[in-house]
Amino acid sequence: MARDPRYDILFQPVQIGPVTTKNRFYQVPHCTGMGHLRPHTLAAMRGIKAEGGWGVVCTEYNSIHPNSDDTPGVFATLWNDDDIRAHRLMTDAVHAHGGLAGAELWHGGARSPNNFTREVPMDVASLPNLAGHPMQTRAMDKTDIRNLRHWHRKAALRARDAGFDIVYVYATHTYLLSNFLDARVNTRSDEYGGSLENRVRLVRELIEETKEAIGDRCAIAVRFKADDTIGADGVPEYGERREMFSMLAELPDLWDINIADYSLEMGVSRFTKEAALEPYMSWVKSVTTKPVVTVGRFTSPDTMVSQIRRGITDLIGAARPSIADPFLPKKIEEGRLEDIRECIGCNVCYSGDSLGVPIRCTQNPTMGEEWRKGWHPERMRPKGSEARVLIVGAGPAGLEAARAAGQRGYHVTLAEATRTLGGRVAREATLPGMSEYIRVRDYREQQLLKLPDVEIFRESRLTAQDVFDIAPDHVAIATGAEWRRDRFDGKTYVPVATEGATIHTPDDIMDGRLPEGPVVLFDGDNYYLAGVLAERLRAAGLEVTYVTESDSVSDWAGNTSERWRIRTRLMEAGVAIITAHALTGFDGQSATLTCEYTGATRQIAARGAVLVTQRAQRDELYHEILERVNGEAERLPFTLRRIGDCEAPAIIAAAVYAGHRYAAELDAAVDPDDPLRHDRPVVGAVLAATSAAPSPVHTTPEPVAEAGGDPAYLATLLRY
Ligand code: ADP
Ligand code: SF4
Repeated sequence: MARDPRYDILFQPVQIGPVTTKNRFYQVPHCTGMGHLRPHTLAAMRGIKAEGGWGVVCTEYNSIHPNSDDTPGVFATLWNDDDIRAHRLMTDAVHAHGGLAGAELWHGGARSPNNFTREVPMDVASLPNLAGHPMQTRAMDKTDIRNLRHWHRKAALRARDAGFDIVYVYATHTYLLSNFLDARVNTRSDEYGGSLENRVRLVRELIEETKEAIGDRCAIAVRFKADDTIGADGVPEYGERREMFSMLAELPDLWDINIADYSLEMGVSRFTKEAALEPYMSWVKSVTTKPVVTVGRFTSPDTMVSQIRRGITDLIGAARPSIADPFLPKKIEEGRLEDIRECIGCNVCYSGDSLGVPIRCTQNPTMGEEWRKGWHPERMRPKGSEARVLIVGAGPAGLEAARAAGQRGYHVTLAEATRTLGGRVAREATLPGMSEYIRVRDYREQQLLKLPDVEIFRESRLTAQDVFDIAPDHVAIATGAEWRRDRFDGKTYVPVATEGATIHTPDDIMDGRLPEGPVVLFDGDNYYLAGVLAERLRAAGLEVTYVTESDSVSDWAGNTSERWRIRTRLMEAGVAIITAHALTGFDGQSATLTCEYTGATRQIAARGAVLVTQRAQRDELYHEILERVNGEAERLPFTLRRIGDCEAPAIIAAAVYAGHRYAAELDAAVDPDDPLRHDRPVVGAVLAATSAAPSPVHTTPEPVAEAGGDPAYLATLLRY
């Protein structure tokens, strides 16, 4: 189908200094948990975004020198010439699809602890480490500033030599350069402190020097925040930002604008909707003639067009929408809007960065698997046989398994016990703020409609006999899990209620069965759901006390950047919060709480108790089928697998991944002993233990094919 002419504007080329992007789709720098550690994985992932139509594809933050080290966060590096070859993998992959590649040069200042490199961290002043490490920076002297400029220039030259088309001066997100700009942080009395002109000096110098070094070939972008301090959402406090911006407005070739509040910029959908940065952008384009890019978790082409037509931005910046759907631009271009896999705003992708592991995505199970599993977000291997596949349960795992097996061309029967497809997402999406989670279901349901060989049976709770009667060749049990009514005490599951007292679970609440108040709500899950349910109960007028054994509310949600907002929301909603206590008893009148540190107990009044702890697999059907053959699966007339929560309860992203993996591996020979390609430094052959000579750095490389096919790059790896 041809694209709707309304969206033509999105496909106009935009000149950025000496380079031109073919369209307005711009993947801004975003972390991946790959960086300098997993260059093949990174290159394949970024290349697929370019294939999907993104005109510009950037790296994550790129350290310019070992003095900026965020380990265990995984960043990219431009520390020496060996890095050039690693980056080449990515720039070549992007260029192969007509995209421009961008590199964000980074010095973390007081945010980078340098625990790996053990360089003394430095910043504009002696500051405590802003990520909470027990250390301070030294205040940069003139030599430090000279060195920084020198390192930045060298990194820029390397970026150019690596084939990047756009190179950033990164002056925001509370990293080093933004601290020079900030009057409250910059307490210097030399020419780099005091007046606005002085505070802007270093950024100005870096822009000019980077331009002078590589500006003939590369565009110079500046990442800059539009507001000064964090105010109420959507109410910008600009301070001196406009004046500061005006002083630099025409210097770079591109402005990449974000805001002071990262938890809004990177907000989860529960708290932040599409285009949330718009109020902050009001003045930006009126002060510069240079192209501007900003983000806003844009997934709607109409919103994108509106942003451009109304002069908010020139380029549609995206991190998450490009992760959830690397082919978003192509789908708009080809008039296939119904195929867009919209980001749900869960920030599971961000948790990879927090945890130092490669990125995952709830909506896009292929994200991060492009190199090691060879998965593609749009294409799958054709079916390997004429086998018929039965999938039982249409939650995220079952839906994705059916969609992906159907895409491969298999004949698929999907049976769901209820009227509604979606399983847990259909239920959770009805809770406060969670509506965008339904996109996990809606995208797949829409795709299933297009697949001629997929039959869906609703209100079909299958029994073991039904499964045998259907007589498929492959059976996947994706029947999910149920919330438990007990809690895990660190070793085993223990009851909480005394006889006669009723415990409620999230399933009860999602089914509309609410407890009496006051309610004690115990969070042993430590992710988002307990907080959402607390809000739900408050909305029903119940008094709620949130209790957790952890020291933090929604502890794991720190990895998705949302735990701070969750706690604020609970406090504003009037939910009482008790941390570091376990719920150890409930008799229908009161709850017993036990302190995690002292073991002291206390009672609080509670007529209702909700336990958000663990889930029990709904795997009776799986076991009933196996019982028919005395547990000897090889005697079944079909292959039998459990997938998703039915196998092991986890987050929604894991269920979608399990469904995709099931379908991808049908009729495939996967070696269970070695199921993944492993992207890592290859050290070559081990030296003989008897060698008296000092160890050389390396000897014979492993076969080139193992390292990704590039002998020059293999040499890079040997230097680690
Ligand atoms: P997952 O996250 O692993 O996909 P969910 O709990 O979200 O799991 O979804 C499981 C789905 O399976 C639910 O929609 C549930 O109604 C359905 N289901 C459970 N048992 C059966 C059964 N015996 N036959 C068909 N569907 C079932
Ligand atoms: Fe969006 Fe969630 Fe995927 Fe991140 S993980 S891109 S927030 S759907």
